Amino acid sequence: MISEEEARAKILEAVRSLPTRRSSILQALDCFAAHDYLARLALPNFDNSAMDGYAVVASACTQGTRLRVMGEQPAGVDQQLRVASGEAIRIFTGAPMPAGADAVVMQEDATRNGVEIVVNVEVNPGDFVRRRGCDLAEGQKFLAKGERIRPATTALLASQGFAEVAVGGEVNVAIISTGDELVKPGEKIEQGQIYESNSVLLQGLAQRCGASVRSVEYCPDDRDALTEALQRGIQHDVLIISGGVSVGEHDLVQATMRSLGAKIDIWRVAIKPGKPFLFGQIGRCSIFALPGNPVSTFITFWRFVRPAVLKMMGAADSELEPAKAIAELIVDLRNDSERAHYFRGRIENGKFSIVGRQESHALFGLCQSNALLRVAVGESLKAGEIVDVQIWD
Ligand code: AMP
Ligand code: MG
Repeated sequence: MISEEEARAKILEAVRSLPTRRSSILQALDCFAAHDYLARLALPNFDNSAMDGYAVVASACTQGTRLRVMGEQPAGVDQQLRVASGEAIRIFTGAPMPAGADAVVMQEDATRNGVEIVVNVEVNPGDFVRRRGCDLAEGQKFLAKGERIRPATTALLASQGFAEVAVGGEVNVAIISTGDELVKPGEKIEQGQIYESNSVLLQGLAQRCGASVRSVEYCPDDRDALTEALQRGIQHDVLIISGGVSVGEHDLVQATMRSLGAKIDIWRVAIKPGKPFLFGQIGRCSIFALPGNPVSTFITFWRFVRPAVLKMMGAADSELEPAKAIAELIVDLRNDSERAHYFRGRIENGKFSIVGRQESHALFGLCQSNALLRVAVGESLKAGEIVDVQIWD
């Protein structure tokens, strides 16, 4: 049995980022940038008005000043207008500032009489003017290699004129659920059987990472069937197997992997739930075999499969850890076991409470939770302490 940290380090060392590709900016959502991006346009790209109003020369304006309106500048084409003292240009939000103007008087702060306005406020240089480059300078880095592309990032790329972006490779995933007891949802169930739910969980989790799930199979606890399913599964970048990885006579995954020439790098990690986790490789396929209890499946995906998939997608190291939050613990917790314990709970209004049953089969308990608290071996935490939790939803 190795520690969680050791297992994670071994996995991250074993997996490589896949070849990069070009993607439309919309399709690139939740992908990772393949290189740094520098601004090719300043933002804004020209001085422009922040309001509908009048462009003026601030030094020639004070409360009560009368100005003659010399023209109109809407957003769009620059009319190349000019303003002198005693003059104003009617201007609209986003329109380029006329030469000579250094402030905008809001429409609400001026009274219009025919071709004249009366300014009803004090005016300072820069009022309601958005300066070129004040948000983003030309040449400034706005997206780093390995950074996740979020909706705001796609908008920023669009604002720079990019229709496409270079991103990390697509990770193709196959999923195999093993177990004689499993029945597909929608089908009739017999006494002793259960509905298969792990492949559903794993598809959702893999999709949330941005991986492409290409194949999902059920497989009975049978050597031949498992061999065939594995042979199909290893055609993908990542194969995730659920169940059959423990020590019972029906746990055939490890032996079948070995018979296909797998290099087994990890089996059994000091993590609770999730101890019988296995990681190995056949050719270029990384194989993650997760214990079948649904919460074990979840935790081992979350701690080991997720960072590996993200790394293969080209994520920077800083993107591999889940979002964290600090919270006040509202119960005492201790871990007397020899494995790091992931408690399922809820963070709400800065407080973390334990929810649901904590056994590895308790899927409803998991469903009620939105965050995990890792309690290290021998660690004892008291109610009222501030703890770091991992947000998973
Ligand atoms: P295993 O890891 O195969 O020993 O399975 C451990 C427990 O998880 C058993 O109670 C299984 O019935 C259950 N289990 C295994 N696979 C699944 C699955 N795909 N969906 C739901 N429960 C499962
Ligand atoms: Mg089983």
